[in-house]
Amino acid sequence: MSEGENSGGDDEQPSDIGTVSLVGSGPGDPDLLTVKAAELIESADVVLHDKLPGPEILGRIPEEKREDVGKRAGGEWTPQEYTNRRLVELAREGKSVVRLKGGDPFVFGRGGEEAEHLAEAGIPFEVVPGVTSAIAGPAVAGIPVTHRDHASSVSFVTGHEDPTKEESAVDWDALAATGGTIVVLMGVGKLPAYTAELRDAGLDGDTPVALVERATWPDMRVATGTLDTIVDVRDEAGIEPPAITVIGDVAAPRDRVVEFLENDERRGDGA
Ligand code: SAH
Repeated sequence: MSEGENSGGDDEQPSDIGTVSLVGSGPGDPDLLTVKAAELIESADVVLHDKLPGPEILGRIPEEKREDVGKRAGGEWTPQEYTNRRLVELAREGKSVVRLKGGDPFVFGRGGEEAEHLAEAGIPFEVVPGVTSAIAGPAVAGIPVTHRDHASSVSFVTGHEDPTKEESAVDWDALAATGGTIVVLMGVGKLPAYTAELRDAGLDGDTPVALVERATWPDMRVATGTLDTIVDVRDEAGIEPPAITVIGDVAAPRDRVVEFLENDERRGDGA
């Protein structure tokens, strides 16, 4: 057994052990933090985060209690093992630790892995759900992920993996067959591959598609097209991660809703 890494057993923990809260930040607008998330961030000794909570939320956390475990200089991700180890280490120092994750901690956020690791190490922890970008991203662009007339189901999938690889974990054929809304996270880079997969699976090239970039951030953008056109739309607009892809009839430009959202003065952006 390596030092410091005992395999659980509460009796082996220091008596003044801290706690870890796996906290969802919501999509980025500070007003969409839960009350509990805001309170925990305020009272935490340390906040471990990556860039996904967005500039507004991160900008409000005092520099001295922030630790960035996202992309390192040079563009490489901090290894997950480092983050796992750091959470345990800080808790054993008696710290109250917030592990702040964009959206909801258990939606494509590796929160599940961190929870398992903490449980194995015998560290007290809690999970604080957040507003996921998978639903909030489309919503703030005027797109309901379900609609009585257009979609009675919605699927949330990762676009990150290569859809042509043999053991693809995402069954695009099956998704196309649902007839419901498909929401793709981490799906900017592989957009050409999975839109082609979906067309091959029988989805109409005219199926509406929307890209919601940096949803609820001050510089949020929405770009719309169809399965046939969306790759060009992405390229022309220069859409970059983080962005949500919404595929299905619900993503058709909903003029009246969009017009209302854009003219709503309460948004405070003078639009
Ligand atoms: N746990 C997060 C998702 C993490 S995976 C959640 O529940 O929202 C990272 C992906 O989330 C990004 O690639 C992007 O697809 C999506 N994402 C997160 N925040 C976003 C935002 N504000 N706007 C658009 N997409 C976002």
